[in-house]
Amino acid sequence: MANYYTDHPEIAFHLNHPLMERIVELREKGFADAKEYDYAPVDLGDAIENYRQILDITGDVAANIIAPNSESVDLEGPHLENGRMIYASKTYENLDATRKAGLWGVSMPRRYGGLNLPNIVFSMLSEVISAADAGFQNIWSLQSCIDTLYEFGSEEQRQKYIPRVCAGEGMSMDLTEPDAGSDLQRVMLKATFDEKENCWRLNGVKRFITNGDSDIHLVLARSEEGTKDGRGLSMFIYDKRQGGVDVRHIEHKLGIHGSPTCELTYKNAKAELCGSTRLGLIKYVMALMNGARLGIAAQSVGLSQEAYNEGLAYARERQQFGDKIINFPAVYDMLSRMKAKLDAGRSLLYQTAAYVDIYKCLEDIERTDRKLTPEEKQELKKYQRLADAFTPLAKGMNSEYANQNAYDAISIHGGSGFIMEYKSQRLYRDARIFSIYEGTTQLQVVAAIRYIINGTMLQNIKEMVESLTPASPVGEGLLKRVDKMVEIYEEALATVKALDNQDAIDFLSRRLDDMTCEIVMSLLIIRDAAQAPELFEKSAVVYVAMAEEDVAGKAAYIRNFDPATLDSFRAE
Ligand SMILES: Cc1cc2nc3c(=O)[nH]c(=O)nc-3n(C[C@H](O)[C@H](O)[C@H](O)COP(=O)(O)OP(=O)(O)OC[C@H]3O[C@@H](n4cnc5c(N)ncnc54)[C@H](O)[C@@H]3O)c2cc1C
Repeated sequence: MANYYTDHPEIAFHLNHPLMERIVELREKGFADAKEYDYAPVDLGDAIENYRQILDITGDVAANIIAPNSESVDLEGPHLENGRMIYASKTYENLDATRKAGLWGVSMPRRYGGLNLPNIVFSMLSEVISAADAGFQNIWSLQSCIDTLYEFGSEEQRQKYIPRVCAGEGMSMDLTEPDAGSDLQRVMLKATFDEKENCWRLNGVKRFITNGDSDIHLVLARSEEGTKDGRGLSMFIYDKRQGGVDVRHIEHKLGIHGSPTCELTYKNAKAELCGSTRLGLIKYVMALMNGARLGIAAQSVGLSQEAYNEGLAYARERQQFGDKIINFPAVYDMLSRMKAKLDAGRSLLYQTAAYVDIYKCLEDIERTDRKLTPEEKQELKKYQRLADAFTPLAKGMNSEYANQNAYDAISIHGGSGFIMEYKSQRLYRDARIFSIYEGTTQLQVVAAIRYIINGTMLQNIKEMVESLTPASPVGEGLLKRVDKMVEIYEEALATVKALDNQDAIDFLSRRLDDMTCEIVMSLLIIRDAAQAPELFEKSAVVYVAMAEEDVAGKAAYIRNFDPATLDSFRAE
């Protein structure tokens, strides 16, 4: 029977991530839960075995319930009835199956009813569900909003809301408004304190809210009258049981049809403040979005896998000119690049998730258990910085790769790729939003570029090179080629930094960002190939060749760029 997890041993490989032992040690806090909960792990091996089991169950649900429902969900979509959103009928089946399988509130501590899974495993579940249906993955993975409530909410709020999410209630993050998209500082939804009822009231409109009729919303709103920037914004919890929010419209979209995108009207809706006022955008929403960005990176990897599977299966069957099309170099060029992007992108995803896990676990220990030692404080700082630098790279690059892989899956299908009966067209439509929501690729570059320009990423790259010991002559050869790429990259970085023109630096930043990602991913895939050549050596060979081609081209662009010509590039 198909299983979206066990069918792809490349996923399980990352359970052996070099940081996994440390992650489990921190997450399980000395395996203390084992005394209270018979399902809690007693040691590292037990914890990994638990992860495998939940991944196996999820792979089964994804392959045998969610994937078979995906076409019907795509065709039916959600609809509106008296201000309420009704999912496509098969979405209810998917929800039911994930609830029965215990796949809700999975990242939460056991004391609230969760499974205490680290982010790296949550990301694996996400990619497996997304491979089956990226639209459903949205509805499911929005449960990760609960991480932000857990981090910044009061103990009373934790006890009130977390068990509900563990039981399968849905969440949404209500940030965007008609005039506040990439620039969330412009949010205007009004929060006023109701002295009589001793609660906050929300009034205004939110737009493009995924799963917008959910049970529990995290809402960004302006609590400080007269302010215009991010410092006047706070984060609120809106509980649907209280009423006051209606769905005014559900968007008709190019893809992810099963995922409802709602316009919401808040009419004096009762809400609770989460954390302190004024920190809504600068602290809480940043945390919320970083988690969600990793969720989109996982969604992208899942869809990339499915696009590759579709392309491969078709190329194996289809014959032209008396031969299977998989034997034509032009076709295997596409397939090998798809696989290389998938494997390298996945490695970047789990590398980033591991960084996030370490610093988040240390933060949690400090918040709930004890003071950190000076060494632990250093460790926290180091991994937080790495997580901040890597998250926009993982989201930006994987979302672009998902689009490229979906495009190539259609190309491999020829005319059939354009026909609705084939899955590739849905993957292509679904993928398009990945590089837009949770911050467009351009905004991911804005988030990443400071770590590139200030040399943090170059330093990381050099440390990665140092720590690599290729196990084969192939790996050694590839590493030498990466050394050359690093030299070219360093030169390009120096050229950009020397430009005394912010517009010109911004203009070139996407190219520097791509080069950074490609070198990092080359190193990761070489590392993976050294450990499991049977899984990754081919992809390492293909990926490094591809990265070399691109890095050289971008370096030439930067070298030859004359800031005096910038006006020629302006549309107006
Ligand atoms: C299907 C869907 C689901 C969504 N789900 C949610 C959700 O659950 N919750 C939520 O709050 N929001 C959600 N959104 C909103 C989404 O996050 C925004 O649409 C997205 O962040 C882009 O904002 P915008 O549409 O206003 O585009 P704009 O900000 O107007 O951007 C337009 C263009 O300008 C570029 N641009 C803007 N600023 C800069 C800059 N500083 N530098 C370089 N380029 C720039 C952008 O990259 C883009 O190319 C969703 C949107 C869609 C379509």
